[in-house]
Amino acid sequence: MNSEIVLEAQQLKKSYHKDRIEVPVLRGIDLCVRRGLVTTLVGRSGSGKSTLMHLLAALDRPDHGQIHFCGERIDNASRSRRDAYRNQNLGVIFQFYHLLPELSAMENVLAPLMISQSLIHYFSNRKEAKKRAEAMLDRVGLLHRATHKPSEMSGGEMQRAAIARALMTNPSLLLADEPTGNLDTDTGGDILRLLDTFNRDDNLTILMITHDDAIAKKADQCYRMTDGKLNTESIHLNVA
Ligand code: ADP
Ligand code: MG
Repeated sequence: MNSEIVLEAQQLKKSYHKDRIEVPVLRGIDLCVRRGLVTTLVGRSGSGKSTLMHLLAALDRPDHGQIHFCGERIDNASRSRRDAYRNQNLGVIFQFYHLLPELSAMENVLAPLMISQSLIHYFSNRKEAKKRAEAMLDRVGLLHRATHKPSEMSGGEMQRAAIARALMTNPSLLLADEPTGNLDTDTGGDILRLLDTFNRDDNLTILMITHDDAIAKKADQCYRMTDGKLNTESIHLNVA
């Protein structure tokens, strides 16, 4: 249980403001994500899980506290450094997939490379990129849907496409915000097993948000969010 700390949050606080009234959401979050493990974050709807994920993905800044990725402080880094941190190290998936509706599964999977590389670089490596996208679609079991648009896919298929897209840039850490929250139990189970395969075979570190206790407790490490804090007493470890 001494694997390296990949992502660490210390004393994160975040409030929203509504009609000049401060609404505290995160009240001092400490969290540690270790390499190669699956860590879950469980909590009721509205408890602040997505807010925390946005901070960890450097999509938003905390009001207080620090976030380190592999020892480097990222919460107060420049916007370009924060974008680079996200593009180079993270894969992100969401409950509602967030696929681009006009693009096919293949084009959605290719999109992150077009964003993270210059257009010239992308076009000169187009063949390689397409090969990798095909391999990713194959791994998530979606090669037969490569030309389908999101509207022509089921929820489970859309989530598979989103996973392939998130892993296209070979990130070391996957942040998943309720990836099974919009799926029936069986389809959700398939998606969890797929994520598990990437964890085991590629040593992909995963931080997964869920509101489902049963899912949360299957992880190597589980944090519970209550009243804007993570209850460290409920950290539960399945690994020696
Ligand atoms: P969860 O993901 O656990 O369901 P969220 O992080 O989405 O919770 O939201 C936590 C709380 O913060 C909720 O009460 C929500 O209404 C509020 N909230 C989230 N985003 C915003 C925002 N952009 N502006 C104001 N309040 C927000
Ligand atoms: Mg949420």
